[in-house]
Amino acid sequence: MGRVIAVANQKGGVGKTTTAINLAASFAAAEVKCLLVDCDPQSNSTSGLGFSRDPERLNTYHLLLGDISSEAVIQPTELEGLSVIPSHKNLIGANIELVTAEDREFRLRKAMESIRDRYQFIVLDCPPALDLLTLNALVAADSVLIPMQTEYFAMEGISELLDTIDRLQHSFNPDLQVEGVVLTMFDDRTNLAQQVAEELKKHFGDKLLATAIPRNIRLAEAPSYGKPALLYDVRSRGAESYIRLAKELMDRMQKVEQVQEVVEKFSEPSPELVEVQNVDERQT
Ligand code: ATP
Ligand code: MG
Repeated sequence: MGRVIAVANQKGGVGKTTTAINLAASFAAAEVKCLLVDCDPQSNSTSGLGFSRDPERLNTYHLLLGDISSEAVIQPTELEGLSVIPSHKNLIGANIELVTAEDREFRLRKAMESIRDRYQFIVLDCPPALDLLTLNALVAADSVLIPMQTEYFAMEGISELLDTIDRLQHSFNPDLQVEGVVLTMFDDRTNLAQQVAEELKKHFGDKLLATAIPRNIRLAEAPSYGKPALLYDVRSRGAESYIRLAKELMDRMQKVEQVQEVVEKFSEPSPELVEVQNVDERQT
């Protein structure tokens, strides 16, 4: 089954969309099939991948409120292996229309059930709010990736996000994990960035990912060409850093899978033990 990663932080402008687009593109470039779901009415992931603002095109709003299949909403992108479920500004209405709906927090999870296993990664770009759209993403997700801008107020609002994750772990989504915290717009030449990084390291421990995303003009320019950075300038520090981030996440997952395999192996009785048991049973 594919791993669903929600890119969330209710603070605005911290690099959620830049991370969602470029991480998803880096997975696809590594020949790992990936789907990006734009859960934000601002639709920045959608336009950043070159889609015009078309109110007629099926989008996340229809997925959450309509009775349409997920297949009908998925669009291919310029990058083979990367598909997208686009957004539109009418998605803002879903926040209000869903309030009285049944299973209002589970809409996205349910809508994605039939397509989850077609992708190795599904990346959800969340809006800058802890609203019903973000809740739908967090209930649909296996893990949360938290981009944090390396600035003095980086921690602002983070406790609310962590509280929300904690509440969901005790209610709607017990398996939800924190995938990690990724530093964005990092400028290692400044003392402030170093200090903020050290503080975050103390706070998050090994949840703070080793790959930090530098401030890089190519990352800011690429969306205006409707491309992820690796199609715009693959040699830029920005594109390279997201390729490294994708690799770090894939390596971590592989390690977790290896540990799980070992645990499973040890929890299964060995063939010799099964044979001894069978002999015992025959004798009794
Ligand atoms: P919102 O909360 O509004 O959804 P966001 O968290 O998705 O914002 P982005 O849209 O990714 O944040 O980034 C905010 C702005 O900063 C954008 O103009 C983007 O191009 C720019 N930006 C993001 N990351 C970088 C970076 N590493 N280097 C340079 N510019 C960046
Ligand atoms: Mg955004």
